[in-house]
Parts: sequence; structure tokens; C-alpha cells
Amino acid sequence: MDSIYFPPEAETFRQRTRRFLDEHVTPRLDTWEAERRIPREVWKLFARHELLGLHYPRAYGGRELPFFHSVAYLEELGRLGSGGFRGALSVHSYMATAYLHLAGDHQQKLAYLKPAVEGDMIAALAITEPQAGSDVSAIGCAARPAGDGYLISGTKAFVTNGMNADFLVTAARTADGPATATGSGTLSLFVIDAQAPGVTRSPVEKLGWHCSDTATVRFDDVRVDGGRLLGRKNSGFMWIMKAFQLERIAAAVLALGEADRALELARRHTRDRQVFGQALARHQVVRHRLAELMSHTEAARQLTYHAAWLHSRGKLAMSESAMAKLRATELAVDVTGQCLQLFGGHGYLEGTPIARLFRDTRLDTIAGGASEIMREIIADTEL
Ligand SMILES: Cc1cc2nc3c(=O)[nH]c(=O)nc-3n(C[C@H](O)[C@H](O)[C@H](O)COP(=O)(O)OP(=O)(O)OC[C@H]3O[C@@H](n4cnc5c(N)ncnc54)[C@H](O)[C@@H]3O)c2cc1C
Repeated sequence: MDSIYFPPEAETFRQRTRRFLDEHVTPRLDTWEAERRIPREVWKLFARHELLGLHYPRAYGGRELPFFHSVAYLEELGRLGSGGFRGALSVHSYMATAYLHLAGDHQQKLAYLKPAVEGDMIAALAITEPQAGSDVSAIGCAARPAGDGYLISGTKAFVTNGMNADFLVTAARTADGPATATGSGTLSLFVIDAQAPGVTRSPVEKLGWHCSDTATVRFDDVRVDGGRLLGRKNSGFMWIMKAFQLERIAAAVLALGEADRALELARRHTRDRQVFGQALARHQVVRHRLAELMSHTEAARQLTYHAAWLHSRGKLAMSESAMAKLRATELAVDVTGQCLQLFGGHGYLEGTPIARLFRDTRLDTIAGGASEIMREIIADTEL
């Protein structure tokens, strides 16, 4: 569909990106899924095609392109139909490195953002903990002052790229008071080298997202100097809330790409599959179901583009980005499930694109802020 949000150059960029992904990623996805890994060279390959820093400043290797180039890129990543792949690449460019861009100083950006944009370093984001997911203010990982820096101790859960990462943007508590202090005013962000003494990483197996590596990361008195603190001490919660806007918009756009892919697969299948003497797609109940799903997808897309447009104009868009995340991710789960139904038993076979989409999109309504939390944010803002 034509859209007022995409200038012709963003559309051209989308087509180029799609061709790049079709050529370099799609043919290798099954292998990476089976091997449960994405080779490090992939980040380098994406960097050579200048895809890792579309929205970042040129000074740090980025392209400073308008935000809707990122929207097109993320939609195409989602359209690949692999949650693991799009998860790994989007966490790198739009989640972990976002904190360096927002809160980092020039030296920190040179040391971490630039190599990440150039594909020489892989980035991970370590906010969630075993006992603190939705409730960020319950984070217990502690950063105790030591010399000119800190000693960091605690455990982080579900870290995307956790095994492969070179650095982890980490939220830790810098309370001056007792070590048991909780709340949002005593969180700080640090960049921690993944190879630093005291960092232990262990992989976790998941229902889906097979090619993406996910890790539990333990910090045992990991020493970081003061130069690894991002932004001011105790300002972490504010940065997390800011970065979550982009994370939610990105999650919504990726989910739309996934819904598009499921619909594409279902349209092709229902045209080819003959039942009771005619193509499945000729049966009115099937045609209407697809028409309905396409309408819902377009509605979620317009809401998401609106949130992205507000974001691109520097607006906070708290409620709109939560609405977009809620609608688009719930939609992706629904669409992939309904499209799988149209494949009958063939959709339930391991290794089929629709089965992978069904499994992978299930995470969309949980990660990056679950649907229940999106509803809370909308209600808090609007009621
Ligand atoms: C594969 C994968 C990759 C991930 N990648 C990362 C990553 O790179 N970095 C990172 O930091 N995190 C990551 N996460 C963590 C993810 O963001 C969290 O799982 C998510 O925020 C939910 O937190 P939780 O799992 O602790 O669930 P909980 O917070 O325990 O919530 C459990 C359920 O209760 C609901 N709930 C919570 N609070 C309320 C409430 N007030 N009212 C009603 N319902 C509520 C939730 O919506 C959810 O349905 C990843 C997770 C997975 C599975």
C-alpha cells in the first residue's frame, strides 16, 4: 500500500534491503535455525551493506537516515519470518546500542557504538533479571563503588546475543544506601565487556527463536572503571524509559513484517491447494478470513506508522508506542495462528516457514514489555 510516511528514497531503500535479505539471509536461515546460531560474520556483512547504523550519526559510522528508513528495514527483517534472526539484529541496532546513542559520551560512543555499527562488536542488553522482568524497579544487580569505579554483582536473564556479545549494556543498582534498596531512582547503566573477569555466560534453550542466542549472564564482582557508567549515576531508569519508546515501536514494526509474511505464505498456499474440486482460496469462508486478517494488519500498520512518525519528530509518544506494540504484536500472534490453520497438517510440520512464524511470534506479546504492561501504560497515560 502507498503510504504518506515513506518518501520515494525510503521505498527504494526497502526494495534494495529486501533483495539483500533474499540473497544473503533467506537461503541460510534453515541452517542457522538448525545450528542454533548466527555466525558472527553476519554482523560484518550487514555492516558492509551499511545496515547496522541507519539512524546513527555519521561520526560513529552511521548513515543519519530519516527514521522511516529504519521502519522499512525493520519491517523487512520481520518479513524474513525468523524471530531469532530479527531479534538478534534488532537488539543490536535498536535496543542495546540505543543506550550508547542516548546516554553515552563521545569516548563511549567511539569505543562501543562505532565498532557495533561497523560490525566489529556485537551488542547485548542486560536489563531483565530472574526476579525482575516487567517490574524494572525491582532490579537487584548491584554496582558497589570501588576505587575510581564499581564492582558489579548480580544475574541477568534472557539476554539476546548474550553468548556472542562483546559488550553488555547493563542496568545495575547504584544505591548509596543499603544493598537491599529498591526503586527507580537508584539505577544506573554500565557498558560491561563480555570478556571481563567475573562474567559467566550460559546459554538457554527456547521454544522458538532458535537461531538467536539467549543467555543467562552472571556478574561476580566485575570491575568496571568510572568511564563505563552511561550518563549520570542513578539516571538509569530515565534512560530505560526513554529507550523503551524506540524498542516498542521497533517491536511493533517487526511484528507487522511477520504478519505480512504469514499472510503472503497463506495467500500462496490457498491459491495452490485444491480442496473439494477448487482452490482453497475460492471458498468464501477462506477468502473472507484472509480479507479480515489483511484489514486488521493494515489498521495496526497505520497505528504503528503514526507512533513511528511521532517518534521521528522527537515526541515522547508513550501511549501511542504502547498502543502500537500491543496491537501489532497481538495481531502477529493471531495472524500466524490463523494462517497456520489454513495450511492444515502441512502447517504443523517442523521446518516449515509458517510453523516457525507461529512459534516465533508467540514471544512478541511477552518480550520488550508484555501486553499487560502495555495496557497498564495506556491506562496510566490516558485514564
Ligand atoms: C527469547 C527472549 C529474549 C529476550 N531478550 C531480552 C534482552 O535482550 N534483554 C532483556 O533485558 N530482556 C530480554 N528478554 C526479557 C523480556 O523482556 C521479559 O521476559 C519480559 O519483559 C517479561 O518479563 P518476565 O519474563 O520477568 O515476566 P514477569 O514480569 O514475571 O511477568 C509474567 C506475566 O505477568 C504479567 N504481569 C506482570 N506485571 C503485571 C501487572 N502489573 N498486571 C498484570 N499482569 C502483569 C506479564 O505481562 C506476564 O504476562 C527476553 C525474553 C525472551 C524470552
